[in-house]
Amino acid sequence: MRMELPVSLITVTAVQRLTPGMARVTFRADTLPESVGATPDQQVKLCFARAGQERPLLPDPAANGDSMRWYQAFLAIPEDARPVMRSYTIRARRDDRVDIDFVLHGDAGPATRWASSAEPGDVIGMVGPSADYARPLGEADLLLLVGDETALPAIGTIVESLPAHARAVAYIEVTDKSEEQRFDTRADVTLHYLHRGDVSPGKSRALVDAVRRAELPAGSVFAWLAGESGTVRALRRLLVAERGMDKGSIDFSGYWRLKLTQDDAPTEEDIAEAQERLAQAQAEGGGTAWT
Ligand SMILES: Cc1cc2nc3c(=O)[nH]c(=O)nc-3n(C[C@H](O)[C@H](O)[C@H](O)COP(=O)(O)OP(=O)(O)OC[C@H]3O[C@@H](n4cnc5c(N)ncnc54)[C@H](O)[C@@H]3O)c2cc1C
Repeated sequence: MRMELPVSLITVTAVQRLTPGMARVTFRADTLPESVGATPDQQVKLCFARAGQERPLLPDPAANGDSMRWYQAFLAIPEDARPVMRSYTIRARRDDRVDIDFVLHGDAGPATRWASSAEPGDVIGMVGPSADYARPLGEADLLLLVGDETALPAIGTIVESLPAHARAVAYIEVTDKSEEQRFDTRADVTLHYLHRGDVSPGKSRALVDAVRRAELPAGSVFAWLAGESGTVRALRRLLVAERGMDKGSIDFSGYWRLKLTQDDAPTEEDIAEAQERLAQAQAEGGGTAWT
């Protein structure tokens, strides 16, 4: 199956500190397909240059347009010259500009280090978003959104896109009040912010405890979960075992892994979940991510 995949170099035009721990970086792209930013929760892979390179080395554009061919060509670049690749969410798009919000987490990896010192003129690569990987939200009386600060950009796009008749409840874990964000929406949306305080990200039980205690309105629920993988796993188990939710009514995604980088090999649980997501996506007639 041929899977379409836009690839572009994007140039920083502005950097803004949204909150003490979140940087919004605005980029200009020479070519941005219409589809970019047209739907919520769009995932992209950002490619960061290696030390000594001015811009990331990306495969020949001839390989663009087919995700498998492009990724094989990417992997064929010698490791010491191959860009570092990390997953992010398109927060907003205006004409040829896109915003991406970076959590500046303390356990800095290459993406966070890059975002902490990004300046206008800096160039990175953007791969995707691909329509093949789009996962529309399920229909239900209530949308339950649960995540940590890495999920805030996606939650923001989802909440802003909801129609007036939609109802959503979100549980979002952040360090403290200074990291809270508000969103414009036509829908009936309740945001519950949970503060982890001094507890390290990924080690807090705040989300699990809050979802366990949550009094949700009567009716059907579709849940969208994202954040640290272990927490997402615990939330999904809780919703299935304690709330009797059907697995097909839960969209879940481990956005990062405690003590592991995005380059580290998948754990057995990661592989099992990826297979489950693939099976679910195929049953729904969609695709799934290729990492
Ligand atoms: C589909 C998808 C969409 C995402 N969208 C966004 C987004 O819009 N904005 C965003 O900021 N992130 C987003 N993420 C999460 C982001 O990709 C990870 O946090 C990534 O690990 C950051 O890369 P890094 O180079 O900074 O750290 P890595 O090199 O991957 O990891 C280095 C160390 O940092 C730790 N670490 C990674 N992330 C965090 C964190 N948030 N808090 C504390 N420790 C951490 C790791 O455990 C590791 O020990 C998304 C992830 C996915 C899969």
